[in-house]
Amino acid sequence: MIRILSVTSECAPLVKTGGLADVAGALPTALAPLGCEMRTVLPGYRAVMDQIGKGKVIAKIDDLFGGPARILAAQVAGLDLLVVDAPHLYDRTGGIYLDAEGHDWPDNAERFAALSYAAAYLAQHGAGAWQADLVHGHDWQAGLVPEYLSALGCQTPFVFTIHNIAFHGNVDAARLSALRLDPWRFTPDHFEFWGQISALKAGLMGADKITTVSQTYAEELLTPAFGMGMEGVLRHRKADLTGIVNGIDTAIWNPATDAAIKPFSTPKGKAANKKALRAEFGLPAADGPLCVLISRLTDQKGIDLLLQALPALLDRGGQLALLGSGDPALEVALLQRAATDDNIAVRIGYDEALSHRMIAGGDAILVPSRFEPCGLTQLYGLRYGTVPLVSLTGGLADTVINASPAARAVGVATGGQFYPVASDALSAALGRLCDLYARPKDWARLQRNAMQQPVGWDASAQDYHALYASLLNGAVR
Ligand code: ADP
Repeated sequence: MIRILSVTSECAPLVKTGGLADVAGALPTALAPLGCEMRTVLPGYRAVMDQIGKGKVIAKIDDLFGGPARILAAQVAGLDLLVVDAPHLYDRTGGIYLDAEGHDWPDNAERFAALSYAAAYLAQHGAGAWQADLVHGHDWQAGLVPEYLSALGCQTPFVFTIHNIAFHGNVDAARLSALRLDPWRFTPDHFEFWGQISALKAGLMGADKITTVSQTYAEELLTPAFGMGMEGVLRHRKADLTGIVNGIDTAIWNPATDAAIKPFSTPKGKAANKKALRAEFGLPAADGPLCVLISRLTDQKGIDLLLQALPALLDRGGQLALLGSGDPALEVALLQRAATDDNIAVRIGYDEALSHRMIAGGDAILVPSRFEPCGLTQLYGLRYGTVPLVSLTGGLADTVINASPAARAVGVATGGQFYPVASDALSAALGRLCDLYARPKDWARLQRNAMQQPVGWDASAQDYHALYASLLNGAVR
């Protein structure tokens, strides 16, 4: 049995802004059959406190970065949670990272230092009778764990997973004492990064092993184009860096049993969902493929490239249904574009059930990201026979088999890829997609291949298990 303390700032189904939540929520279940017992340390945001009921107090910390805190054990949706109930840090109206105006909370450094400190405290003192064999932290919000483990004199190994290197959690050096960090460790060997305190760097330097969510992203991270300034640190830690691709929850994303859609188990069954989706989005009948896109709207996601490339789809009778929220300028640009063309429909917002209906009803799913550590929506697309068209980067490169002549000749293609990540290449790829769609036999083959591709957690759970076991080196109780 391996006991793992997972440390995360979001966890589905309780609280989610992106793929990190899905992964943190799925790992405990995926790892359980392999003999791993994972408990998840999560901030007690208001939404989380509302969902856990009373919980059981297993620890009290008198002063957790400015106020008292309790650690509550609770079970929700099959997850064993250790919730950090610290109202001065987490009980507020607004988002988990951003206030109501969309700005970072000014005390985010303390809020997630507190999460990391609580995790280190639990690793050192145990959660009741339960003692972790290792700590697994996710992204910069858990980056300071090794600093606090060291401060507490705790030897428990630490695995650090990068879900997105774009976020560093850097703050001014003047916060050293507020964050209760050891000033002697404010050096490039630990958490000093160009004169600032960097929680991400602390995690990268202090981890026994580093993983990221695809092999291609693990390689990309070593380059200036993708490392976002951390490429030097990552090159330094290269020997301990591996890529383990994300899976999806194949029970939630199961076209045969999905309660949000008209269930189906062959591509033919998508027709009724497509009809319903067109009706829901007010799209007319058309000859070309109905493409869907579900995403945070940020520069990363290449939405601007798609706006430029759209004529290549529309000229061939194709359509776009898009669901997303984020950057206000992108939201406006999309709504304006939709207002000028009947074959484009845009919903601004966050809607899980609608995302299921879109994946079920779409012919193709677009993921034109500039960088994409793993990406999940292309995996949903594969599972639902919704052909992914993706940029050739990160996890998108690792999970989709491009319909190249070679791949089609041996019948293994599952989607389309484009490179370089630019609007011209995307236009050309949309043209190729329309060509394939116009050949029903070829298209049906793509869909069948897509639906057969394994996208669950089985293989990746084994990789995590092997990584944990390698660190414990026979020391598992
Ligand atoms: P990222 O973590 O960068 O946002 P991923 O593709 O890894 O990208 O994960 C995004 C997750 O959030 C997916 O589960 C996706 O379906 C979901 N998602 C993103 N935007 C929306 C939205 N507007 N409505 C519903 N689900 C969304």
